[in-house]
Amino acid sequence: MALQMSWQPSLQRRKSGAPPLGLRNLGNTCYLNSVLQCLTYTPPLANFCLRAQHSRLCKKLDGGGEDKKRECPFCILEKRIARSLSIDGPHDAPSKIESCLRLFAEHFQWGRQEDAHEFLRYVIDACHNTCVKLLKVAATGNGGTSPDEDERGGREPSTVVREIFGGALLSQVKCLSCSTESNKTDEIMDISLDLYQSNSLRDALRCFFQPEILDGSNKYSCSSCKKLSEARKQMYILQAPNVLVIQLKRFEGMYGSKINKDVSFEEVLVLSNFMCKASQVCFA
Ligand SMILES: [Zn+2]
Ligand SMILES: [Zn+2]
Repeated sequence: MALQMSWQPSLQRRKSGAPPLGLRNLGNTCYLNSVLQCLTYTPPLANFCLRAQHSRLCKKLDGGGEDKKRECPFCILEKRIARSLSIDGPHDAPSKIESCLRLFAEHFQWGRQEDAHEFLRYVIDACHNTCVKLLKVAATGNGGTSPDEDERGGREPSTVVREIFGGALLSQVKCLSCSTESNKTDEIMDISLDLYQSNSLRDALRCFFQPEILDGSNKYSCSSCKKLSEARKQMYILQAPNVLVIQLKRFEGMYGSKINKDVSFEEVLVLSNFMCKASQVCFA
């Protein structure tokens, strides 16, 4: 599936030059509105929604949830994003999403303040899972292989959601006694950054990818040396997502207060210093 990464003005019907459509706060829905605005202004997702690419397939394969009790979360999100980019006027109410909140996040409660990043993760997961379900329906209908086979291989099947937001991190531990390296890959949909020591996005990223020495009571159990030894642990970006979501952890501990300081960021974020050497070659 080829993503369209740049804005396609021909798809949007909202008057060009008009400021983005505002979303009214329906009572503690600022977390919901901010997530919807971010998703609406993610070009590859917006283009996909404006073309109704999900709902057309969903209707064809699954009836679009129309004749079932349970509605389809991706169809609802697609409609919301397309509406925000199509209607004129200063603002609108995200009533449909709010009334279907539990389709995305079962334990979220109407009217209660919730966490924006948590909500975003639920929305992304709900849409990804919907696409996986459709892939299975399509594969079964065609008598083909089920995407389950990919899952058995340890990888989730690729969906538009994964193609937009999905990436991979490499966690590498190198034993300082025998130099044996152990590598582990983690698929990611975002990166969460601590802000304790950083006032800028660039610095918070530098801290995240900084090597860590495992020593003292934190020694590494090396399978080659067959003992606890000192080791160097480092994270790298193995595959950079097309759209990188970054969560700034603006809370201190479980019940701590909010970290309200300004965090600066530049318009261009260069990730090459954090990429692992092998992928620098592949993705250069
Ligand atoms: Zn759908
Ligand atoms: Zn070792």
